[in-house]
Amino acid sequence: MGDKYEGRKFETVFKGKDLPDDTRIAEVMMWGAKLHKLGLLPAESGGHAGNMSFRNSRGFVITAGGVNKGRLTPRNFVQVLNANLDTKRVEAEGELEPSSETLAHHLIYRERADVNAIVHVHDNLAMKHAEKLKLRSTAKAHPYGTVELANEIAKAAGNQRYLVVRGHGVMAFGKSVWEAGKRVMAVHAEAEQL
Ligand SMILES: [Zn+2]
Repeated sequence: MGDKYEGRKFETVFKGKDLPDDTRIAEVMMWGAKLHKLGLLPAESGGHAGNMSFRNSRGFVITAGGVNKGRLTPRNFVQVLNANLDTKRVEAEGELEPSSETLAHHLIYRERADVNAIVHVHDNLAMKHAEKLKLRSTAKAHPYGTVELANEIAKAAGNQRYLVVRGHGVMAFGKSVWEAGKRVMAVHAEAEQL
């Protein structure tokens, strides 16, 4: 699902190469393996779909773009320090480019004090049954990774804990990585019953 991958739609300014150090990185690795096994983080257009992030005192930590979330390593995590939606510049620390959806994660963390973790997967089954499951959905489709899509996601998410990104995938918002991961699993299980 989603459009063809054409690279990142923002510029990353690296402030250093240090890898983030946080116990939640192991948690994200565990969820990556779990959700990959369910087929929700498929290989797509030369990379791997989906991304996961959590908020920390310096900004947020997000998975690197295109890496296999089924077997994440510490090098696959990037510390995002800041993002500017006007200049489309992201300040980061790490070894790899942050996920192409970094701007959307930034906007959610900025607008939602209640959200500390975001899990984005490509759950075609949940998307197919979105109406039956009464899932909130973005109104319009926008190309991935753009400021327009980030704005659309933040607007549609409201105070919801789960959002269908039309024509693309789904996002779960949690107080913790565990909560966001559980939400993805719960909706997927419900969709499987239909
Ligand atoms: Zn995606």
